[in-house]
Amino acid sequence: MTKTTPEQASQITQYYYDIAVKASKLDGYVDENFLLKTASGEKFLLKISSEKNKEQLDFQVQILKHLSEKKLDVSIVEVVPNKEEDLLSFLPNGKTARVLTWLPGRLWATINPKTENLRNSLGEAAGSLTMVLQNFEHTAAHRNLDWDLANSTWINAHTNRFSGKQKEIVHYFQKRFEEILPTYKNLPKSIVHNDLNDYNILVSSELNNPKVTGLIDFGDAIFTQTINDLAIVLAYAIMDLPDPLLAASEVINGYNKNYKLSENELDCLYTLVGMRLVTSVTNASIKKEEFPNDNYYVISEKPAWDLLEKWFNVNEDFAYYSFRNTCGMETHPQAKNFETWASKNTFQFSELFPTIAKNEIHLLDLSPASTWIGNKNDFNNLDLFQFKIEQLQKENPSKIIAGGYCEPRPLYTASSYDKEGNNGPESRTIHLGIDFWLPTETPVHALFDGTVVTAVNDEGYKEYGGLIILKHTFGDLEFFTLYGHLSLKSISTISEGAHLKKGDCIGYLGDKNENGVWAPHLHFQVMFSMLDYKIDFPGVTYFNQLSVWSGICPDPNQLFKIDNLKTKYVQSSEKLINFRKEHLGKGLSLSYEKPLHIVRGEGVYLIDADGKKYLDTVNNVNHVGHQHPKVVAAGQKQMAVLNTNTRYLHAEVITYAEALLKKLPTHLSVIHFVNSGSEANELALRMAKTVTGHKEILAIEVGYHGNTNAVMDVSSYKFEGKGGFPKPENTHILPLPDSYRGKYTSENCGIDYANHAKEIIQNLKVDGKGIAAFIGESMISCGGQIVPPNNYFKEIYKFVHEAGGICIADEVQTGFGRMGKSFWAFELYDVQPDIVTMGKPAGNGHPLAIVACTKEVAEKFNTGMEYFNTFGGNPVSCAIGRTVLEVVEEEGLQENALRVGGFLMAELKALQKQFPIIGDVRGEGLFLGFELNGSEKNPLPEHASYLANRMKQLGILMSIDGPDHNVLKIKPPMVFSKENAEELIYRLNTVFGEDFMKSF
Ligand code: PMP
Repeated sequence: MTKTTPEQASQITQYYYDIAVKASKLDGYVDENFLLKTASGEKFLLKISSEKNKEQLDFQVQILKHLSEKKLDVSIVEVVPNKEEDLLSFLPNGKTARVLTWLPGRLWATINPKTENLRNSLGEAAGSLTMVLQNFEHTAAHRNLDWDLANSTWINAHTNRFSGKQKEIVHYFQKRFEEILPTYKNLPKSIVHNDLNDYNILVSSELNNPKVTGLIDFGDAIFTQTINDLAIVLAYAIMDLPDPLLAASEVINGYNKNYKLSENELDCLYTLVGMRLVTSVTNASIKKEEFPNDNYYVISEKPAWDLLEKWFNVNEDFAYYSFRNTCGMETHPQAKNFETWASKNTFQFSELFPTIAKNEIHLLDLSPASTWIGNKNDFNNLDLFQFKIEQLQKENPSKIIAGGYCEPRPLYTASSYDKEGNNGPESRTIHLGIDFWLPTETPVHALFDGTVVTAVNDEGYKEYGGLIILKHTFGDLEFFTLYGHLSLKSISTISEGAHLKKGDCIGYLGDKNENGVWAPHLHFQVMFSMLDYKIDFPGVTYFNQLSVWSGICPDPNQLFKIDNLKTKYVQSSEKLINFRKEHLGKGLSLSYEKPLHIVRGEGVYLIDADGKKYLDTVNNVNHVGHQHPKVVAAGQKQMAVLNTNTRYLHAEVITYAEALLKKLPTHLSVIHFVNSGSEANELALRMAKTVTGHKEILAIEVGYHGNTNAVMDVSSYKFEGKGGFPKPENTHILPLPDSYRGKYTSENCGIDYANHAKEIIQNLKVDGKGIAAFIGESMISCGGQIVPPNNYFKEIYKFVHEAGGICIADEVQTGFGRMGKSFWAFELYDVQPDIVTMGKPAGNGHPLAIVACTKEVAEKFNTGMEYFNTFGGNPVSCAIGRTVLEVVEEEGLQENALRVGGFLMAELKALQKQFPIIGDVRGEGLFLGFELNGSEKNPLPEHASYLANRMKQLGILMSIDGPDHNVLKIKPPMVFSKENAEELIYRLNTVFGEDFMKSF
């Protein structure tokens, strides 16, 4: 039949509906579709159908009428009656026209990112549609469609279109479908949409956290098993994600809120999703042959195959338990049964370990917050770990050292524990069994009768080593117990299928050479299902799967019922937040919409209480890496021996001062030790005032020098910011030397900016006042990682020195090699400060700061008044500071800053070309920043905040600063590697591609 032209479509609308429109053609699978636009901008959809069956057409309009009369949580199109008040218009050429209202919204397929909330809202929308269609009937809905999942066995004849792995997958789902048919046939039926694909779902216009707002195209609606709609929606909604099962659970969770799913429906769901995908790829293969030039048929073929392969790798039982869990059912159907059985049967540890004969427990905390385990070097040092266990054992002679069920742990440092999740990298951290820390060769005995199902060597670093799994059956109750980290002799003397009686010896604890490289212990776990695992049943899982796994692997303590064996959870974030609000200073702020609860640092990473690792690009304080073992040890050792003040002689303060002086230009030869950057600048200002006899201070706009009185007075960032105060009389603020968006932007703007200093000094002179000091950060960090232009500092220093003033370089942020090219940032500008202040990185997190000055300043400052500082220069701080300098040297961290910083800068510049929202990229070494701007250089603080929050979700911490809050700062620990930089760029690339970041 001839196709309708857009002109004809307009004429049809005018004639039958009396609406003047301009029509344009849209894609359509069965019907011809036209977008209609009136002169006032109102939109409609015209559908022209060749369908001869009037009943079918009536069904199409009645279903929409039914839905428009019911209260649905989402919008559905309505049918517009024609001039005769009929919902259908029969055209002379035998075709039928209908006009539908146009729903606003964005298509699901175009949304980036598709978040957990969005998937949840899709589930809710689909569930509410299912619910509302429960009481709708139409005879035409009882029809035969290839796209009806109930009918999908027609694809079995097409298996030979595929080969290799693809054929295996197709065949697998076809076979599973036949196996579930007896259950499937009896599942509840109703009229369903039957095609909730990613082009039939509308999403709201908010680009941050949008919701599903509409469902369209009911052309495939049919009376069939109700569950099919969910299977279809899943087949599209979980595409293009590393973890489709988790995504599916998020959709199902929403769906189940509106339509309560049954156990049998959930039981079939995994196979139905697979079968829908197999139908899609089969259909695409057929249509590709029929219409080799038409892309429409193959639009989702590639993502369907990708998903099918991933879905095939999901264990069906695990999927079923995940679905039950998300629907609030008991995760595993055996759970209650086990609980009842266990409540009637209590066991002693002496039955498990008869040679130990102890029945009390000392709970061992191995969580990320545990100080007992020390840092990564400590806990990976098995001799040390074992020594500490033995110490603990001596202190608790009557107890077994044990614990760990559902405990997050930082111990699993092998790469086999990491994967890419739907929100960036994820690691398995949650322990699913109980560990008993006992000597090698300790015999382990059966608590009850069982059959050996696994006796293997699970080789590899941080694996089980010798592993035995027993199966137990008590009436209808079936469960498994797992014994990990046994000796290899244990597994060679037992064979799969062997029956063990209660009290029989299962095996013996292995040593580190055969137990996966651990201090000797038994990993004891209970499972309701083997989930097809053979040699490596997980003993540790991902935090976001904790709820499902704990439902499959119950607490083994149900057998022992010892209170002291329960994992002590860390305090909830809410509790910490509430206490802070009530009892800590009100001005304290927390980063991020959802604050982080960080309990452990490890090199470039911070780790939260649940064991989630974040790549840290924020904390320049932890200069040589969080909890650097050598720095930690230096502090610990000195703290164990002595900590006093500088009134006694001590070599450590001299050694550190000497080491530091070697890093400074020779004219800076005298050192004062203090405890914070604020205190360092406070002292520097006092020195300048004492030395010059003047009070006037020059400082830079948006500069920050600390939180004490005198430094607040010269910190424009603070007194000109929120809750600020009028500029103090003796403070003179120079404009922010920002050559990108500042007052001057020409090539020689450094001079223009510096001339403000000249003018102020001259004016002061006229008033009879002299200048005490100029204080400036060598790169203005809070100001937005501003790199002052050429000659800026050189000129200012010249003016200040000529006027007899002191130049103070604040290196609190920028010092200690971070610049890469030089050890101090002021060295980049060829200037000679009289005083240099240092802080943050000096002690790698320990409160240590320094004022270095010239001999002349030091002498003039010595007025006879004692300078005493209780903590400044104490041996512990000095030992730490000295070690930081050593580590910077030994690990070549200044060179690393140059190399990795250079790489990062180049990559950021490449990103800037791709994403024009990046207005400027600047900095040196590992002290970088980039601005987010609109096309008129208008700052975009909301985008900066979106970016930082999304990066956090993806496992990377970034901070925002600058007067317009639109600069992302990058100043990571200096051990930041090229791989870390690549990871950062990869994730930035992801987020810059998201809808919110593209709208400005
Ligand atoms: N100067 C600069 C440049 C700083 O960034 C800071 C801290 N952000 C300080 C001084 C004050 O240091 P502290 O917080 O250790 O007192």
